Amino acid sequence: MAEGLRGKGVIAGIAVGRIMMAGQNIDGYLKGYQPGNKDIENQKIKDAVKAVVAVLQENIKTLQAKNMVEQAAILEAHRMLAQDPMMEETMHTKVEELANAPLAVLDTAKEQAAIFEQMDDAYFRERATDIRDVGKRIAKYILGVKEPEIGDDPVILCGHEIEPSVIANIPTDKIAGVVLGQGSTTCHAVIIAKARAIPTVVGIGERLGEIPDSALVIIDGERGDILVRPDEMTLTDYREKIKQQEERKAYYAELAPLPAVTRDGVRVELCANIGNHMDVDAALTYGAEGVGLFRSEFVFMGRQDIPTEEDQFKAYKEAVEKCDGKICVIRTMDIGGDKPLPYLNIPPEDNPFLGYRALRISLQRRDLFLPQLKAILRAGVYGKAAIMAPMVINVAEFKKVLDFVEEAKLELSHEGKAFSENVQVGIMVETPAAAIMTPELAKYVDFFSIGTNDLVQYTLAVDRGNSSISYLYNHFNPAVLRLIQRTAQAAKDNGIWCGMCGEMASDPLAAVLLLAMGLSELSMSAPSIPRVKEKIRSVSSVQAKELLADVMKMEDGEEIKAYLQKVLA
Ligand code: PEP
Ligand code: MG
Repeated sequence: MAEGLRGKGVIAGIAVGRIMMAGQNIDGYLKGYQPGNKDIENQKIKDAVKAVVAVLQENIKTLQAKNMVEQAAILEAHRMLAQDPMMEETMHTKVEELANAPLAVLDTAKEQAAIFEQMDDAYFRERATDIRDVGKRIAKYILGVKEPEIGDDPVILCGHEIEPSVIANIPTDKIAGVVLGQGSTTCHAVIIAKARAIPTVVGIGERLGEIPDSALVIIDGERGDILVRPDEMTLTDYREKIKQQEERKAYYAELAPLPAVTRDGVRVELCANIGNHMDVDAALTYGAEGVGLFRSEFVFMGRQDIPTEEDQFKAYKEAVEKCDGKICVIRTMDIGGDKPLPYLNIPPEDNPFLGYRALRISLQRRDLFLPQLKAILRAGVYGKAAIMAPMVINVAEFKKVLDFVEEAKLELSHEGKAFSENVQVGIMVETPAAAIMTPELAKYVDFFSIGTNDLVQYTLAVDRGNSSISYLYNHFNPAVLRLIQRTAQAAKDNGIWCGMCGEMASDPLAAVLLLAMGLSELSMSAPSIPRVKEKIRSVSSVQAKELLADVMKMEDGEEIKAYLQKVLA
């Protein structure tokens, strides 16, 4: 009989495999360690730091070559931590006290991590894992720890929190699933798992102790179920589900070339959200009809300095070219919040999500903003590029964006560089202020794209990364729906297009309401496109409008969700 645990499903999919506990226990190695004199111990630290940095650099290069930008950025942050002179200095000071190199390293990392752990901001708390990870890497090198070997069969990686270096170093085909005790959906292990579409369940807390190492388990990354030691009958059931999962994938592949059109002919464009130009190829295989959100900050991350206009031009041009005449919306960099950029040296803030981020940085840093706009305008020559400004809160900000765009064009003309005059300039509607002001903003912008990831968190005052209040984070909350409807109406009244690039767009139930509101484009992570397309093709616009009318009379987000689940099942 299977023992059942329930966590939070964050990356859908069913996986069967044996548990591999990711928290490598180095206590045994520490006990057997024979330290030399202090000079020798200090030298070991120096050698280990050098070796770890070299390995990280090698890994970063490999990831960059494979265009795994997000993972490269994480390891780049680790490299910087490993090379932090203050950290190394503290390690050497601790050798004086402890006369043991690995202990000095681990103690330093523990101390530094504790500082981060006490911070109010969830993002900084999670950085404590990175610091411990780097400390452990250096200590492991000194101790000569061998990493566990994974056999032929893929494993379910399990731990309270999994160090990013551990997951990043295991090939995708060797990880069937991930189970985490901690509940954050924005920690780096989850980001990496998401990029690799690995079924993942988080937030099982103390009950992690009930999962024995090497036990056979089944996980359901959608429902959050973990079945430990399933019996034969359960295994047969789930193997059947995996078979259905594979069949579904094949069916979705068939859907890819078909349009997202309702039974009575209302067409919605389904686009992909991407982090770098190489993502476009994969997106097209899922049937993406363009790019609705190119998160350009990833072009800025995973490196040590600001990318030049030329660097950016190459990346944007490639994405625009690959889109082959279909739209490619490039969002100007959205640094800050949960995406820091160490080389910008932005001082720590009490509320980074309400702080110096995104357009607020761009408007103050012409040395960053102008080259980016020039690069996008130049890429526009090769297809249908669009510029999208994030985090706008008022008309004045957008007018400044337009001034910058004009200045960028002027500079390009003087420099004799080719650029497109037809690049649309729009905004993300991701703050309640922007949503409320859409009737005014619509007079200036070419388009709106609703960013519900932030719009939900700012409207409901619910941190998008805080798992203890995630039950409040509901895109069907009537307050959110009203802001979306207002935005769609303002777009319609002013003859501009309105899309959505927040996660809500990837929810098939939401898609039905959004098309009824008049959104003409939905952009999402590419693997979600077929599910949304399937739902759109199964309804009529008349039915969608009726549902919208019903829903807008309801008072509660949970009630709306339950109603849609029932009616659209
Ligand atoms: C959003 O806020 O909805 C969005 C798409 O932007 P990001 O998730 O990058 O903040
Ligand atoms: Mg956002």
